[in-house]
Amino acid sequence: QSSRNITNYRYFRQHMLGDIIEINKISELLNHSIENDGLRLLYQPQINSATGSADGFEALLRLMDVNISPPDFISVAEGRGMINIIGRWVFEEAARQISEWKRKGFAVKPVAVNMSVRQIDDNGFVEFMEKTLEGYGVEPEYIEIEITENLLFEDTKRAVVFLNKIKDIGVSLALDDFGSGFSSISYLTRFPVDKIKYDKSLVDQYANIDKCSVIQKLNLLAGEFNIKTLAEGVETREQFELLRDAGCHAIQGYYFSKPLEPEDVEKNFLKGAGD
Ligand code: C2E
Ligand code: CA
Ligand code: CA
Ligand code: CA
Repeated sequence: QSSRNITNYRYFRQHMLGDIIEINKISELLNHSIENDGLRLLYQPQINSATGSADGFEALLRLMDVNISPPDFISVAEGRGMINIIGRWVFEEAARQISEWKRKGFAVKPVAVNMSVRQIDDNGFVEFMEKTLEGYGVEPEYIEIEITENLLFEDTKRAVVFLNKIKDIGVSLALDDFGSGFSSISYLTRFPVDKIKYDKSLVDQYANIDKCSVIQKLNLLAGEFNIKTLAEGVETREQFELLRDAGCHAIQGYYFSKPLEPEDVEKNFLKGAGD
């Protein structure tokens, strides 16, 4: 018995050590990226299911020249106190990009920016948002903040106060990853969200002939609360058609487009500037 415990302990320690080394490495690369202009945003179109054209874009963070997945470096950033700096950078870069598109004469669409759970601790964040938008001459209607369910799960009261501050400056809110974890229908009544985004796992499970009525009913329910719905991770034409017919307002996924460089957004998804 005791020797088995020792073996387990060794095994555990080795793994923990490995993880810590890995986390240190990611943390170093992340710091390096922050200090050397190595962060970039890609933009994934959100397609209006009625018109077939882009209604908006989700900004997705990438590290230049570093091959680490966003969920990995985001969780390290959260654990190592770097998420507030990154979160502010992402917000400002999205605002800057929108102002560039406006200046070039494009008919701009709202850009959705992901906000981490931890950024609720960044006290001046909403003021920073307001100043940044002002500085770039971008109206708040052009920004949407995506928050995940666990943000709301952790500290409901603080979350409500924080989200209302965001709404007060005119920025809209989307509830991300709906259906992936501890989703609760009560979120629709408790939080001032304008949109819910159905997680890919929910899409994979229900975007088929047999089960799509579940999504249809969710859409009706969201409609009761004046909340728009978007389905994420849509990869096939069949899924798209079922989700559209079930009443999802917008669709996002590889079926339409992967996340794109800003130039490709201009070329393929924005109108204006010469056409
Ligand atoms: P998310 O917010 O749920 O973003 C959607 C993810 O699904 C993106 O992965 C996107 O590239 C991917 N995706 C889009 N369409 C499809 C599809 O049809 N099939 C599949 N399999 N995947 C699809 P990505 O860019 O790797 O980001 C992963 C996660 O990292 C995001 O999940 C978000 O939680 C986080 N993240 C990314 N950028 C930021 C950021 O700027 N700030 C924060 N806090 N988190 C971010
Ligand atoms: Ca998101
Ligand atoms: Ca999502
Ligand atoms: Ca996610």
